[in-house]
Amino acid sequence: MKVSFSYLKQQFAHPEPILEKIGTLVKSGALTLGRAVETFEQSFADFIGAKYAVGVGSGTDALFLSLKAAGIGPGDEVITTVNTFVATAGAIETAGATIRFVDCNERYVMDVDKLATCITPRTKAVIPVHYTGQPVDMNALCALSQQHGFTIIEDSCTAIDGAVDGRRCGTIGLTGAFSLHPLKNLNVWGDGGLITTNDEAVRDRLHLLRNHGMNDRDTYAFYAYNSRLDSLQAVVGQELLKDVTNITEQRIKNAARYDAAFADIDAITIPQRKSNERHVYHLYILLVEQRDELKAYLKQAGISAKIHYPIPLHLQPASAKLGYQRGDFPVAEQQAAHMITLPAHQHLSDAELDYVIEHVRRFYGAA
Ligand SMILES: *Cc1c(COP(=O)(O)O)cnc(C)c1O
Repeated sequence: MKVSFSYLKQQFAHPEPILEKIGTLVKSGALTLGRAVETFEQSFADFIGAKYAVGVGSGTDALFLSLKAAGIGPGDEVITTVNTFVATAGAIETAGATIRFVDCNERYVMDVDKLATCITPRTKAVIPVHYTGQPVDMNALCALSQQHGFTIIEDSCTAIDGAVDGRRCGTIGLTGAFSLHPLKNLNVWGDGGLITTNDEAVRDRLHLLRNHGMNDRDTYAFYAYNSRLDSLQAVVGQELLKDVTNITEQRIKNAARYDAAFADIDAITIPQRKSNERHVYHLYILLVEQRDELKAYLKQAGISAKIHYPIPLHLQPASAKLGYQRGDFPVAEQQAAHMITLPAHQHLSDAELDYVIEHVRRFYGAA
């Protein structure tokens, strides 16, 4: 048996209904912004429970343009977690601000208690990353934000449909940044992203930022960027948005099955869950002993497991100028050495899940 990490071939085995809608778009000639993007933005905002959504070129641009819209730039510090995808930090640098890192907790997301000790007078924004689909403790973060006056930009790229106390990820900060990359839970046929916000002035500024600062065809409010969500990808997104609820439910079910199957094995740590948060399991990560050996063992059995990510950002060559050292973020470093991501996607069959469980258990002598 082969249990693969990618499910794109299964997901898009029958693309004809979407291709038909793309055909209609192409014939209309409305290939940049226009009705397709507006319709999808409204559907996305309704789904997330935000007032507005603005379609942009990628999740990375959603973060970068959010920072620009919040007026963040040179001289400002922006704090994010050290165990995120490179794009979170890249967006801070691209905005001209200074990257500051904070450690994560046992749930792979920002340790808000530690964050409190990292805030300086220059801290203008914090980017909580709802990493792996696990929401950050937004109640504690919002309290800190009120105390210190920093802006919150939620990196929700892996957390569509995640929630804290019933409030969706991406609706709590000034903006939420979402990615439509093919490997995300809502995935289009290329790159794409969205920014959600409840602030009308921020929405208006984002409309200008993503489209050359154009008030209209002949008037430019300021010099800006070209980062529009492709109209073609908006058509794809509009169709796939219908599947998100099912995808969330299936992933939660798969994760619960893994949790139950591994709970009795001492060499495996199942991350703790909080009952007021909905984790959507973009990634299902375990902390294990003999991680590299387990990964090789699974590979031999045809099971593709991954590591997200083996080198925390402060130890990357790109971070050399930031002045961090090994040992600065002990939780993230410890997790990087022990984490393994198992396939938990919505296209796994019961037989495939059982096969993964059986092999993990057998590796630890618990078959
Ligand atoms: C994927 C991802 C991004 C970037 O999204 P792109 O659409 O690939 O630019 C940002 N942050 C996190 C946590 C991600 O997983």
